[in-house]
Amino acid sequence: MTRHYNFCAGPAALPTAVLERARNELLDYQGRGLSVMEMSHRSDEFIAIAERAEADLRELLAIPSNYQVLFLQGGASMQFSMLPMNLLGQGGSANFIQTGIWGKKALSEAKRLGFSCHVAASSEANGHTAVPDEASLSITNDAAYLHYTSNETIGGLEFDYTPQITRADGAAVPLVCDMSSNILSGPIDISDFGVVYAGAQKNIGPAGLTIVVVRDDLLGKAPSTISSLFDYQMLAEAGSMVNTPPTYAWYLSGLVFQWLKNDIGGLDAMDALNQRKAQKLYAAIDASAFYSNPIAVPNRSRMNVPFVLADARLDKAFLQEADEAGLLNLKGHRSVGGMRASLYNAVPEEAVDSLIAFMADFEQRRG
Ligand code: PMP
Repeated sequence: MTRHYNFCAGPAALPTAVLERARNELLDYQGRGLSVMEMSHRSDEFIAIAERAEADLRELLAIPSNYQVLFLQGGASMQFSMLPMNLLGQGGSANFIQTGIWGKKALSEAKRLGFSCHVAASSEANGHTAVPDEASLSITNDAAYLHYTSNETIGGLEFDYTPQITRADGAAVPLVCDMSSNILSGPIDISDFGVVYAGAQKNIGPAGLTIVVVRDDLLGKAPSTISSLFDYQMLAEAGSMVNTPPTYAWYLSGLVFQWLKNDIGGLDAMDALNQRKAQKLYAAIDASAFYSNPIAVPNRSRMNVPFVLADARLDKAFLQEADEAGLLNLKGHRSVGGMRASLYNAVPEEAVDSLIAFMADFEQRRG
């Protein structure tokens, strides 16, 4: 068996140790004689798995007790709709910082449902190569929340600050953050946020699970006309089990949380490793006249590193040879082309070293 280095943007690499543990427990979970996939979500065994995963996530992110943690389905994209449905239930508008494709989708879904939306700042003018200054944010007086995408997965643009917002009337505006592609990459201060959400398939676990961390005062604002499956308060009251949750994805994510705690040593250690991985790759790109990355240095994503070759006619050969060398999924998003190396938590430092060596060799032979 060979596991290649996987630079996929998502669904992304999972830690080998997690997959091995899942394999060992696949047919017979801890002597119970059945798989986690075959358990009732209401069984004592599964409730213990679910509670452990939540406790570990709370510990990793130091989530305060006045926040609920929801384990949902529908992907991060479902939150683009659930957020305004819940947070604008009593009126007001959603404000957005636009820094790329995912933030744009969040805005267009809210608009589609007829909610009042406002763009508080955008990096469109610089081609989404640098995030807007905090001083340039213009928040409406009826802002019920400010939404932003802390890491734009496609553009490779990451915020280097957490916006702190007050309206002109002095009211604090809850911050809502799509952290799909950088959650758990390092420590964050949850108390800065009203809502943090993320699809699981990058740094959390397999696709099919979405995690929403929501502050208590933002619950109970949804109109009673929406489905109970969309209502944060009802989901929180039911322990994310209004209906059958994605049990196996929940279990696997729990194994990832244990790996982060026990094998990596927590989010400070993960942060240091991620910094090192990203810095190496950007340094290699910057040192070469053949590869380039357009993002302003302070906003370069630690998780997704897009780069282009000086001659796009070589893209195909680059990808094919990389694949043959066991470096998988380096193709950039279809909307932007070029290459993208995603360096999520489960991508080991050796993978980055191999990629850098391959890039140097390719440049020497073909550049
Ligand atoms: N937001 C961000 C930042 C993403 O990277 C993605 C997926 N790549 C999404 C939202 C959409 O996630 P999903 O496919 O889980 O709906």
